[in-house]
Amino acid sequence: MTDQLMIPGPVELHPDVQSVLGEPQRGHLDPIFVSRFGASLKALRTVVGSPSAWPFLVSGSGTLALEMAGANFILPGEPVLVVSTGFFGERMAAILTRLGAAVTVLRAEPGGAPTPEEVDSALAARAYKAITITHVDTSTGVRTPLESYAKVAKARGALVIVDAVCSLGAEALEQDKWGLDVVASASQKALGAPPGLAVLTVSQRALEIRKSRKEPPTTMFGDILEWLPIMEGCESGTPRYYATPAVNAISALSVSLAHILAEGMPARVARHKHLAEALRHGLDALGLTYLPKSPALRAHTMSAVYYPAGKGPELVGAIAARGVTVAGGLLADLRQRYFRIGHMANFSASDIISTVAAVELALGATGGVAATSAALRNVKP
Ligand code: PMP
Repeated sequence: MTDQLMIPGPVELHPDVQSVLGEPQRGHLDPIFVSRFGASLKALRTVVGSPSAWPFLVSGSGTLALEMAGANFILPGEPVLVVSTGFFGERMAAILTRLGAAVTVLRAEPGGAPTPEEVDSALAARAYKAITITHVDTSTGVRTPLESYAKVAKARGALVIVDAVCSLGAEALEQDKWGLDVVASASQKALGAPPGLAVLTVSQRALEIRKSRKEPPTTMFGDILEWLPIMEGCESGTPRYYATPAVNAISALSVSLAHILAEGMPARVARHKHLAEALRHGLDALGLTYLPKSPALRAHTMSAVYYPAGKGPELVGAIAARGVTVAGGLLADLRQRYFRIGHMANFSASDIISTVAAVELALGATGGVAATSAALRNVKP
C-alpha cells in the first residue's frame, strides 16, 4: 500500500486520470488526443469563469506560466507592483526582475496579506502597468482577497496577473466578473492532473496588448502568439505542430477537467471549503495553530500549521510513519517552525479523517478525529 499523499501538490490522481496515463503512447496529431486537447481548453474557460479568455496549455510547470505572463505582457522598464504573501510572490518578483521590469514589492508579514486599501495606496504611488497577485501562496497557506485587490487594480487601470497555481480548480475565481487579465496555473494541484503543464488563461484585453507589441518577447517557446494557432487548431479539430505538446499530461488533464465539470465549480469550491474547515476543527482540537494570521486568510487548498511547543520537523516523519505524507515548511525564516498539509482535488471526508488521525497519533494526543468527524456530520457525503 502506498502512503496517502497530502502535500500541496502534486496531488493523488483519480483512477480514471491514472488509467489514461497507462494507455499506449499516442501521437500529437492523433484525433483522440486532439479532441481531448480541445475539450480541455473549453473546460478551462468554464473553470476560470470566462467564455472569452484564451486558454494555453504548454509543456512545463507553474513557474513557466508565471514567466510567460511576465514575458508576454510586460516590456522591459515597465513598472509592476508585486503583492507578495510568501515565497511565490518573491519568485514572481524575481522572474519580473530578470525580464527587466521595474518591480516594486508590496510585502506582507509572514501569514498576513495587505488590505485592499493598502494595495490601492501602493498603486496610487505610480502608474503601474500591472499588478501581480498570488491567490494562494503555498509557502504560507494565505489566500488573498483576490476579488477586492482586482477591483482596486482595475480602477487604477493596471493589468491584473494572478498566480493561481495553488487555487485554480478549488477556490472561487471568476476571471471575467473580477476582471482578471491573466490567470497562471499548473496541472498538478487542484486541477487534479500530473505535473507537466503550464496553464494560462488570457483575457481578450491582454491578448490585444501582446498583439500590439512592436517586438516579440525574447522567449520563443513562451510566446503566446506562437502557441495561439496551436490552441485554435486543437479546438477546431485541425491540429498543427509548434513544439511537441505533453500528450500524456494533457490527456490526463482532460479526464480530470471532465470530472471537475461534472462536479461543477460551485460544488467543488464548497467541498474544498467544508473539508478544509473540518480538517482545521480537528487540528484546533489538537491545540495546533496556523501561519495565516486570521481565519479569513486560510486557504481551502492547504493548511500551514505551526509545530506545537517541543516539536519540530521530526513530526513530518512521525506523521509519515502513520501512512500520511505531509510537507515541511518552505519560508526561509520559519522553515523549522511549521508544516504544510495539502487538501485539494481528489480527496474526501475519509482522507481528512485519516490525516487528522495520523497527526493525532504522531503527537500522542486525543480529540482531533472526534472533532473532525463532528464537523463532517454536516457535510454531504
Ligand atoms: N506559485 C505557487 C503559488 C505555487 O504553489 C507553485 C508551486 N508550488 C508555483 C508558483 C510554481 O509552480 P511549479 O512548481 O509548478 O513550477
